[in-house]
Amino acid sequence: MIEARPTDPDLDPPAAGTGRRPSPPRVVVVGGGLAGLAAASRLVRLGLEITLLESRPRLGGRASSFVDPATGEPVDNCQHVSMACCTNLADFCRRVGTADLFRRVPEIVFLDDRGRTSRLRAGPLPAPMHLTGSFLAARYLTFAEKLRVGFGMACLRFAGRDRPGESFDAWLRRHGQTDRTIERFWGTVLVSALNERLDRMDVGHARKVFLDGFLRNRTGFRMEIPTVPLGELYGVRLRQWLEAEGVEIRLKAGVRSIEVDDEGGAVSGVTLRSGKLIPADFVVLAVPYDRVRALVPDREAGRIPGLDGLGRMESSPITGVHFWFDRPVCPPQLEHAVTVGRLIQWVFNHSAIQGREPEGGGQYLQLVISASYDLLPLDKVAIRDRVLADLASIWPSAREARLLRWWAVTEHGATFSVRPGVEGLRPDQRTPIDGLFLSGDWTATGWPATMEGAVRSGYLAAEGILADLGLPRSLVRPDLPTAPLARLLLGRAETRPPIPPGSARRTPLAR
Ligand SMILES: Cc1cc2nc3c(=O)[nH]c(=O)nc-3n(C[C@H](O)[C@H](O)[C@H](O)COP(=O)(O)OP(=O)(O)OC[C@H]3O[C@@H](n4cnc5c(N)ncnc54)[C@H](O)[C@@H]3O)c2cc1C
Repeated sequence: MIEARPTDPDLDPPAAGTGRRPSPPRVVVVGGGLAGLAAASRLVRLGLEITLLESRPRLGGRASSFVDPATGEPVDNCQHVSMACCTNLADFCRRVGTADLFRRVPEIVFLDDRGRTSRLRAGPLPAPMHLTGSFLAARYLTFAEKLRVGFGMACLRFAGRDRPGESFDAWLRRHGQTDRTIERFWGTVLVSALNERLDRMDVGHARKVFLDGFLRNRTGFRMEIPTVPLGELYGVRLRQWLEAEGVEIRLKAGVRSIEVDDEGGAVSGVTLRSGKLIPADFVVLAVPYDRVRALVPDREAGRIPGLDGLGRMESSPITGVHFWFDRPVCPPQLEHAVTVGRLIQWVFNHSAIQGREPEGGGQYLQLVISASYDLLPLDKVAIRDRVLADLASIWPSAREARLLRWWAVTEHGATFSVRPGVEGLRPDQRTPIDGLFLSGDWTATGWPATMEGAVRSGYLAAEGILADLGLPRSLVRPDLPTAPLARLLLGRAETRPPIPPGSARRTPLAR
């Protein structure tokens, strides 16, 4: 068995030495998105030799920024927000020292089609009733519609058990919801949370958003918004931290294939696109789901359950539009708004959140449209014009303001689609090939395609490696506690058990 020598004070002391020390186990992480970064972050200080290989010239994967050639300024590929229920993302940011780079927002501002605002915030009642007061005060639904939504919410506890494969839209209609409650309430919350249309959405995932995000705990729904560009948060800062911890990071180092030894069927390294071989005892394959199959040698592919299923996964697009205006368009103090019944779903005021104003004043807004299938046939100028017209129908000043600069970025494969039955396609992090682990928001975490899901998958892969090294421990952080009344009314949270700390790996790797 390979031997690790932990130096982390949380871990057990190393076994008494027997003289000559073996060379440290080598871990190669393929992919510098949040999954790969999270896996690497949990393996440092253990006496392992860790190399992280990323094909692009930057870290962060889908949560990154590009440089605007006109200004040299970083522009996020799209706004990324998380919620307080994302306990592992928060743990990750705390460990790597970036937790102070988020604004924690205790209320969600909704803006209806008549320009009226409603604020969702916790009142004095215990969970799951803590949001009832502000929901009853919301102006985008009538009182009768709120009662209807309340009925649907009460039925959610048992959703998804009776008709597997049913879409959430069909489920809602079976449970008394109307076009208006679906569009103005359920769709408004879920389409952006899960990046999918309701008629293509799995009931279990929809249920999880409401139960785990909004109902089980008083603070779970609170938003966390970065106060710096994503490239700073998950690129520059992470690189500094990991390199200081001894991780070797190689950018522009695309992997062509993983290598598996002929005798034992264990992973033995990776080959870069340049042809260079990098030997490894463990490989964490943390690339997007549609890149995995090409990296696994044909003769090994049949050994990994779920690899074929990845070919049946589908992607869902997100469009982010950035506007720099010469004057304020939305109220300067408004940091964000969820817009009800519009093309635009979220407005983020970066001048207020990040203090980023165009030179000479004005306002920098970012608008987000999830599951943006309807925009796919349009070119960027047509997208700009539609989004601008929609914005002007909220704030007419957008019509008079001069648009100094703009970007429209559609990520066609933004996330895997949470269509009904998708859970059956998501493979575990551990594979039957010794030393090979999968990681990424698409692996089996129980979470939708989110930064939290990506970090959990990285922690689970790291758990598997530690278990194989004879250092079993649980790295995945627990969910926020379910309040007693919420437990009574909603039942216990259904969490996916972490990857079992298996016995030490079967193949001896003495070198
Ligand atoms: C537009 C958009 C908006 C989003 N908004 C949110 C949000 O608000 N909140 C939220 O929680 N989530 C959001 N997400 C989802 C979130 O970004 C992802 O769930 C998360 O970043 C996925 O991380 P990952 O590490 O699993 O994958 P990725 O970020 O895709 O990382 C995979 C990495 O592998 C690299 N790679 C690929 N092939 C190779 C190879 N052969 N060799 C080496 N490296 C390779 C890639 O370059 C990439 O860096 C959004 C995503 C998008 C696209």
